[in-house]
Amino acid sequence: MKKIQMVDLKGQYEKIKATVDASIQEVLETNTYINGPLVHQFQADLEQYLGVKHVIPCANGTDALQIAMMGLDLKPGDEVITADFTFAATVEVIALLQLTPVLVDVDMNNMNISLDGIRKAITPKTKAIVPVHLFGRAANMDAIMAIANEHNLYVIEDNAQAIGADYNLKDGSKKKVGTIGHVGATSFFPSKNLGCYGDGGAIFTNDDKLAHILRGIVNHGMYERYHHDVVGVNSRLDSIQAGVLKAKLPNLDAYNKARQDAARKYSLALSVNPNIWAPTICESCDCHVFHQYVIRILNGQRDGLLAHLQEKGIPCAIYYPIPLHSQKAYASPRYKEEDFPVTNQLCKEVIALPMHTELDDEQIKFITDSVLEFLNN
Ligand SMILES: *Cc1c(COP(=O)(O)O)cnc(C)c1O
Repeated sequence: MKKIQMVDLKGQYEKIKATVDASIQEVLETNTYINGPLVHQFQADLEQYLGVKHVIPCANGTDALQIAMMGLDLKPGDEVITADFTFAATVEVIALLQLTPVLVDVDMNNMNISLDGIRKAITPKTKAIVPVHLFGRAANMDAIMAIANEHNLYVIEDNAQAIGADYNLKDGSKKKVGTIGHVGATSFFPSKNLGCYGDGGAIFTNDDKLAHILRGIVNHGMYERYHHDVVGVNSRLDSIQAGVLKAKLPNLDAYNKARQDAARKYSLALSVNPNIWAPTICESCDCHVFHQYVIRILNGQRDGLLAHLQEKGIPCAIYYPIPLHSQKAYASPRYKEEDFPVTNQLCKEVIALPMHTELDDEQIKFITDSVLEFLNN
């Protein structure tokens, strides 16, 4: 059996080496390292793939979230609602911009932001909601957009984990996740579903005016050379990373399908055990693209299982071990423990199994057998 890895970027690269190498070579030969033609080509390809009017490439996913928020007319002290159970980048940029993060609990069934939690957190100061499509699964965008419209709030989608996922809207139309809110942000960190070989990110929007503002913000607030109209940042996707992404984008659907296939096999094997909660795979749509395959261990044995799997050479991880409201940087007297029962429980129960595009049946069987062997004892 091939050695099991949490993410197998080398195995993936070997299959696309010729196209990726050619793309990188093109950058080297044309010496266009910054804002080269490949950046614009990738931008256009991604706009077409996502069915969105504007993609603004930038340096990483955290910048993408920050710049998206800088482009909206938010003022210090404005409240921005986001999920307690997510990677810290989301709440970090809210705090950095001197906005007030308001963390709310998530739902047990999909681990995404709780609609009830959002409704209860809204105050006259609330200006935006940041849903995170956690682990690759689309948040309930119909309901989130309805709440936002009712209260006149912006919706900024954190799509770092769900690029390529589809969402079937109530009106019967289908949209790519990340293009439904006012603005979306994604990351091309190497292990993400569409990853480059370094850092990268992008912002999406269908709003022409906002897109124009964002294009200036990523470039030192310049709309005309050496005229700085707003305080901006320097955040660029470099040409080599754009070349890698342009070469990989045509494979994204196949990559997401490989992840779904692995997830289906995992869930089929694991859901027989009553101590395991395993995610279901939606057979009629692509609303979950399994950035991570996360199960819950319901009998209090999660940490024992983690040690058991590591002993067997199976890498696994806890996403996320500590709720954001319990982190020193984001603690606030506004939070009460009883407001976060689901996140508090998930942090004790979740475990992420290896998930990438190169998993084979032998590896999946070894992993599921090892999980069941521990829990059946
Ligand atoms: C990865 C990630 C980010 C940040 O992306 P970087 O490119 O690492 O800055 C933001 N939000 C979520 C949910 C992520 O998973």
